[in-house]
Amino acid sequence: MRWPRQILFGDVDAMFASAAIVKDPSLAGKPVAVGGPPPRGIIAAASYAVRAFGVRSAMPTVEAFRLCPGIVLIPPDRPLYRRLHEQMQAVTGRLFPVTEWTSIDEFYAETTDLQTLYPDPAATGRLVKEAIFAATGLRCTIGAATGKIVAKIAADTNKPDGLVVVSPGMEAAFLAGQPVRALPGIGPKTGARLQSLGLRTIGDLLDERWDQPLRHLFGPRLHWIREAARGLDHEPVVADRESKSMSHETTFEHDTRDRVYLEQVLHGFLRTLAAELRQDGLAAAAIAVKLKDSHFTITSRQRRFPRPLNYDPDMWPTIRQALQELMKPATFYRLAGLALTSLTPAPSGLFDQRRSKAIEAMDAIIARHGATVMGLGGVSKSEEE
Ligand SMILES: [Mg+2]
Repeated sequence: MRWPRQILFGDVDAMFASAAIVKDPSLAGKPVAVGGPPPRGIIAAASYAVRAFGVRSAMPTVEAFRLCPGIVLIPPDRPLYRRLHEQMQAVTGRLFPVTEWTSIDEFYAETTDLQTLYPDPAATGRLVKEAIFAATGLRCTIGAATGKIVAKIAADTNKPDGLVVVSPGMEAAFLAGQPVRALPGIGPKTGARLQSLGLRTIGDLLDERWDQPLRHLFGPRLHWIREAARGLDHEPVVADRESKSMSHETTFEHDTRDRVYLEQVLHGFLRTLAAELRQDGLAAAAIAVKLKDSHFTITSRQRRFPRPLNYDPDMWPTIRQALQELMKPATFYRLAGLALTSLTPAPSGLFDQRRSKAIEAMDAIIARHGATVMGLGGVSKSEEE
């Protein structure tokens, strides 16, 4: 059967730890972890051998040693990762017409047009797994599906060294049993709120019994969340996406811990950036909020939207939530920044026609007078449904 659309997602298994073993094969099978030394170091990546002891990335190294005294701690080796990444990019560039590397060890490949050559997506998946292993010595897990969200979740549930195909029509059934947190756009806070309501799986999001609380929780986003939960996802694979972003940041005259003020600053950035997106016919699939505190420590938080957006009132709740999660009590901040990332051509049908007209009219005013003159809060919500 020829698929209407076919996308492969690939994710290298425990990339940094595996890279250390590629460099020194005598480490194979040992409880390898990459990270900084105690007392202040953090685990950046854990091999599967060390994960068996409960060691996880982002864990303090001290804690990792407590769980696994025999841990083999390796310092990070950025040039090695960069070299392996370039070798993998060369492989995917040779095999696929369009590949989008979203991080140093994750990619999406558009394989719809390869079906004539490779009618079986499992065979395509094996081909790329073997080619990456031959070029680098790294193992990866591949998910194939009609959209990016399902392909990624499929791969995430079959690590390491996995290969999973979710055939057209099986998306909703596959997603139904997965935890809600697996869905992009559902972070730890929303996940906890859903759990307190009694929702555990992606399938629960489609259950009409929860219509009322879900509408309350997600507002207009619920429509997209549910489309994603059904596995309906039209986000395209865009080559070289990792380099495509727009951002704004500012350093304050006086350090501040005023959340309302920080929100106003980021909201202002968003208005300008979203207007630029629309003028360029682009949409952003993800955002990053960055803060620098009075001790010059930089923290940031990334969030993905269920689908690419360029209408700021739809984007704002996610950004506001990221800011709230990022802010620490009793901390003063000297800089705030916002980046719109994973830019893609704006999908058609992003707005209904009436709303598009209203946005067009406002964009014309923004283009003439600047975003500070007019925000898009003015497009009435009642027109959205
Ligand atoms: Mg990985």
